[in-house]
Amino acid sequence: MKVLKFGGTSVGTADRIRTVAEHIRKSGRNIVVLSAMSGTTNTLVEITDYLYKGNIPGAQETLNALEMKYSGVISALYDTEEAKARASMLIGENIGYVRALIQGEFAMAEEREILARGELMSTALMNEYFRECGVKSVLLPALDFMRTDSNGEPDMKYIATRLGRLMDLNPDADLYLTQGYICRNAFGDIDNLKRGGSDYTASIIGAVLNAEEIQIWTDIDGMHNNDPRYVEGTRPVGSLNFEEAAELAYFGAKILHPNCVLPAKLNNIPVRLLNTLQPEAPGTVIYNMPPDGSVKAVAAKDNITAIKVKSGRMLLAYGFLHKVFETFENHRTSIDMIATSEVGVTVTIDDDSRLAAIVDDLKHFGTVTVDRDMVIICVVGDLEWHNCGFESKAVAALADIPIRMISYGGSNYNISMLVHRDNKVQALQRLSEKLFG
Ligand code: ADP
Ligand code: ASP
Ligand code: MG
Repeated sequence: MKVLKFGGTSVGTADRIRTVAEHIRKSGRNIVVLSAMSGTTNTLVEITDYLYKGNIPGAQETLNALEMKYSGVISALYDTEEAKARASMLIGENIGYVRALIQGEFAMAEEREILARGELMSTALMNEYFRECGVKSVLLPALDFMRTDSNGEPDMKYIATRLGRLMDLNPDADLYLTQGYICRNAFGDIDNLKRGGSDYTASIIGAVLNAEEIQIWTDIDGMHNNDPRYVEGTRPVGSLNFEEAAELAYFGAKILHPNCVLPAKLNNIPVRLLNTLQPEAPGTVIYNMPPDGSVKAVAAKDNITAIKVKSGRMLLAYGFLHKVFETFENHRTSIDMIATSEVGVTVTIDDDSRLAAIVDDLKHFGTVTVDRDMVIICVVGDLEWHNCGFESKAVAALADIPIRMISYGGSNYNISMLVHRDNKVQALQRLSEKLFG
């Protein structure tokens, strides 16, 4: 059995839903994970934003526009009046649910309940479409099996048992359908796996079912060798190993949710990145690929803050780094990059919500300087240190761009360079010319 995940644009219109449904039907008895239709989660976020600001009419108007959009999809998607009526009822239930929440008390729990509606609606529409086409699809509600534990990690045993049971109850299904992104937390409340988390759902399901393959279907033909949103002429990378894929996903390659790699890697399940708009394209396969000594791709991670702590006598004073790292641990803030010298250390963080308190604490150990609006530019590949030349090429590509910090050697797979956000696009372009030109 395979896991097939379709992202927002793959189910973004009635036409796309039809195309994807045909593809799913032909691919056999698999388990299919759907994201919300493109734009829906953003609209739901906008509604919750209005509610946080106490602007009820703003939330209502935004919801009304969303409801209109869905009625358009229903009219275009189904042929029979019965199917249209059933789909309208299912969408109406979800919209009504949000409408009721708009009127009541609003806090984080309600926010998550609202955000869950996108995937509940897209799967309801697809399931009804299969029903109209005479395909026996069985909708497995993610809220009945997908759960995180008290650390926010997927509860793999629980998921395996519950999902297995649900599938066993429907042995004659032509295919199974479920929601990406949404889950319950350790308290049993509705929660989610963070933005873009449907990829993670697919990987968790692949791992617990020991699937043959996990396919991530999206709007581009695989992982490109640079960010296609900023660089022209990027090309798909044929294959990556799990480490390379994890580095790229973590450092900004939006095509893949960073957490998606680990469950697949631990269970040695290949992940294929494929294009719904061009299904015959080979895409990218991520597997336990042997080292090949090549640079694979470049990515960029935005909104980085660099914090430098300068001390008069750092290396002589053992325990200095410990105190610095402990400060970040106390504030539950993770560090991305590190550079050290005799007199100081610089680290980068992407979550700056505790920045003021962190800086305050660090001032006990040295002089603190903060650089904001930075970007990590990351070169990824099989960069084992005996293979000469790739570091010099990467640095040479940025010859006329100020580099705040460089990190290499933490793994065999990545060189990271920190630049100001004003230089990001130029840095990405230069690296493409130099490395893949
Ligand atoms: P989905 O909604 O299907 O999950 P996403 O928008 O999350 O799709 O991811 C696909 C997008 O990722 C592409 O449209 C592309 O703009 C962006 N992207 C960023 N970096 C890369 C990269 N290196 N390779 C391919 N796509 C990338
Ligand atoms: N619908 C969610 C989002 O937009 C999850 C996903 O698409 O993976 O973030
Ligand atoms: Mg995505």
